[in-house]
Amino acid sequence: MDKNMVKNKRIGIMGGTFNPIHFGHLLLAETAYHQFGLDEVLFMPTKNPYYKNLSNTATEEDRVNMVCLAIEDNDHFCLSKEELDRDGTTYTVETLRNLTTANPDHKYFFIMGADSLYHIESWREPEEILRMAVILVAGRDGGGSSSLKSQIAYIMNKYDADIRLLKSPVLEISSHGIRRRIKDGQSIRYLLPKKVADYILEHGLYGQTS
Ligand code: NAP
Repeated sequence: MDKNMVKNKRIGIMGGTFNPIHFGHLLLAETAYHQFGLDEVLFMPTKNPYYKNLSNTATEEDRVNMVCLAIEDNDHFCLSKEELDRDGTTYTVETLRNLTTANPDHKYFFIMGADSLYHIESWREPEEILRMAVILVAGRDGGGSSSLKSQIAYIMNKYDADIRLLKSPVLEISSHGIRRRIKDGQSIRYLLPKKVADYILEHGLYGQTS
């Protein structure tokens, strides 16, 4: 049967600024896909977000192009422009409302790193986010530190949420670190897909000095 015809799909959402996308994001999504038997993972670039100071940044178009290059060899990863195509500030709760209204039979799994779970109560309408999606969260220590486990228990109890721990190998890679290395003229090889690194170099992104 055509994969797109399947009802009741299990859809992962890998939201991010992706400035730039790197192997940490890709490994997180791939781990979620396998560990939770997902049908596909949507890579959903945010608009330039209100909660980050994005000087030394790439345009939305560049971020989308880099995501496309990064996921093109994986047939269960797809680009979603759900957030980029909306006007104004984008909030995860609106994204999930749109997706669940359009596809009420699907189950959504929002994939995130630990920091996002520590901040989720400052997001708009966290109780609604946690009602509409299962949260898949990964610690940066590969297992889930006692502090992350406490945070999971706290959010689950407070909001009656469904939060599962992702058992993902840890890659100590960050978009910020990559941008800094580029600015300092250091190599970014093996931190992100070669096609993305080549795109950054060809388009002179992130204040390259050489
Ligand atoms: P990002 O910096 O591009 O990161 C995307 C995700 O990848 C984050 O969850 C991050 O975890 C994780 N990650 C990054 N590097 C990793 C690595 N080496 N290993 C494992 N995981 C790694 O994106 P973002 O700006 O945090 O945004 C994430 C999502 O949250 C987006 O969909 C955004 O719209 C949403 N958000 C919503 C609101 C709201 O609705 N009010 C507010 C803030 C964010 P960490 O969280 O641990 O960095």
